[in-house]
Amino acid sequence: MKQRIKKAAVIGSGVMGSGIAAHLANVGIPTILLDIVPNKLSSEEEQKGLTLSDKAVRNKFTNTALQKLIKQKPAPLTTKSNIALIEAGNLEDDIEKIAECDWIIEVIVENLAIKKQLFEKVDAYRKQGSIVSSNTSGISIEAMAEGRSDDFKKNFLGTHFFNPPRYLKLLEVIPTKDTDSETVSFIKTFGEDVLGKGIVVAKDTPNFIANRIGTYGLLVTVREMLEGGYSIGEVDSVTGPVIGRPKSATFRTLDVVGLDTFIHVANNVYEKVDGEEQQVFHIPDFMNKMQEKGWLGSKSGQGFYLKQ
Ligand code: NAD
Repeated sequence: MKQRIKKAAVIGSGVMGSGIAAHLANVGIPTILLDIVPNKLSSEEEQKGLTLSDKAVRNKFTNTALQKLIKQKPAPLTTKSNIALIEAGNLEDDIEKIAECDWIIEVIVENLAIKKQLFEKVDAYRKQGSIVSSNTSGISIEAMAEGRSDDFKKNFLGTHFFNPPRYLKLLEVIPTKDTDSETVSFIKTFGEDVLGKGIVVAKDTPNFIANRIGTYGLLVTVREMLEGGYSIGEVDSVTGPVIGRPKSATFRTLDVVGLDTFIHVANNVYEKVDGEEQQVFHIPDFMNKMQEKGWLGSKSGQGFYLKQ
């Protein structure tokens, strides 16, 4: 079973991509982790005299992701020796390496147009028969495959991991009408037997199953808080430790997910529903303001809480 996936590629090394790459490494699969080249130097890089073509700058995101994985405490997502199975690179210089991979997982920003641009490149460089999947939280899988080759479409599906991928067992698998049934059954068996996941096959509807319910519940809680004048601490204590789920408190969860990603995910549904349901998926102003300030959660060091 493992033999079919001798090497994997994960594209996008943020919150989820780095975690998925770590999970693959933990089960012994060599993995290439790619991200985009930054288009701006930081002031520190400028002071050091670096340029955008320096390798250190070009691989900034991926290197940071690997360093973060090494430093994870107290529950490491992986170990130093497993990290050796992850090869970091940048998309611009290293995309041809995906031709060596049997499974390519897209884990970039939650935006259909950007994902489609990436899949056009992936289609050009991948080998025939390789599986390609998206970790989207809820964008239409079929829409992402539009315009792609027949072989791509046959081998393309959604594989929606949950955060953090090492610990959360659910894996939603989302085929389209074009996905080969053999590809779907392979991913289901591989997900269960090799990755240790519990598989739920979902229809290609906005936000699939878990996020359609989860985003709704979370935004209803936020609305109740605003209407009732409760504090973030009060809501988190009632939705977390008090009900025996310390890690599921509303705002702690938002910090772990990343507010920018959450807003994209809520908007996936907002645009496709109407009436009362649409009102629930409307993002409150204070969240948009936080996003503008860059208070995105753990990944930016500040969200509803300061990162400790
Ligand atoms: P993130 O913001 O942490 O990371 C996104 C990464 O994609 C960044 O490193 C960015 O540099 C990179 N990127 C952006 N555009 C790119 C491009 N054109 N090519 C290559 N890389 C590019 O986001 P995330 O939270 O890891 O989410 C990634 C995907 O996973 C999204 O589709 C999201 O909806 C989904 N997801 C997120 C969560 C979560 O809890 N955060 C859970 C499940 C699924």
